[in-house]
Amino acid sequence: VLDVRGLVKRYGDATVLDHVDLTVGEHQVVTVIGSSGSGKSTLLRCVDLLEEIDDGQVLLDGVDISDPRADAAAAQRRMAIVFQAFNLFPHMTALQNVALAPRVVHGLPAAEADERARELLDRVGLADRADAHPDRLSGGQQQRVAIARALAVRPRLLLLDEITSALDPELVGEVLSIVRGLAADGVTILMATHEMGFARQVSDRVCFLDGGRVLESGPPDQVLGDPVQERTRQFLSRVI
Ligand code: ATP
Ligand code: MG
Repeated sequence: VLDVRGLVKRYGDATVLDHVDLTVGEHQVVTVIGSSGSGKSTLLRCVDLLEEIDDGQVLLDGVDISDPRADAAAAQRRMAIVFQAFNLFPHMTALQNVALAPRVVHGLPAAEADERARELLDRVGLADRADAHPDRLSGGQQQRVAIARALAVRPRLLLLDEITSALDPELVGEVLSIVRGLAADGVTILMATHEMGFARQVSDRVCFLDGGRVLESGPPDQVLGDPVQERTRQFLSRVI
């Protein structure tokens, strides 16, 4: 589904991503780990074409979407990203938040968009909160609505950027269990997380980013359980 090749991203003099190669196959979950500032969010933002890249390519289903001549908006419609901070529209109900993109971006009739939104709210366990505004929902519930909203466009690729790090610890589990369900259902996911136990459970592959480079990648049991690189060991000993 996704093929990142030699991706370079600079901010001024700082090279934040330094020739990153990464692939995510259909129905796979690939997790990016690494310390703060290692470039995880930048990588996800580059994939979603929210940042201009300085070198390399981002291929979605074999098409170079990072090519300036490519239709970036069309590519973006095939992906969805959920961020750390809940960014629901505060003046809309949960249902309206989820139904918005199918209606506005994909041109679905309102009734169908609402129906799809109800199904998705049900899937994240919030069918009974459809008419609540975000300020009446807990952080975990808001993040579950954000996941439903991302799924509403039926993305080829779901990008999740540390979606539990702004949550109170007791709310983390409910959000992770939703993601676990999506992974089991075969949703293709590229995510960044600090939850190592979770990464180990759901990932097909884990990539350790260090200073903008993929230092190590492989099956979770290997990268998280028995890493080759000393720097990966150091990182894991600090976070686990
Ligand atoms: P965290 O775990 O804290 O979320 P991260 O791995 O997601 O960290 P990034 O947010 O990708 O890290 O940032 C990577 C580097 O790029 C950091 O050094 C950061 O300061 C820098 N950076 C990110 N966005 C910008 C920007 N818009 N302008 C300049 N520098 C930026
Ligand atoms: Mg980040």
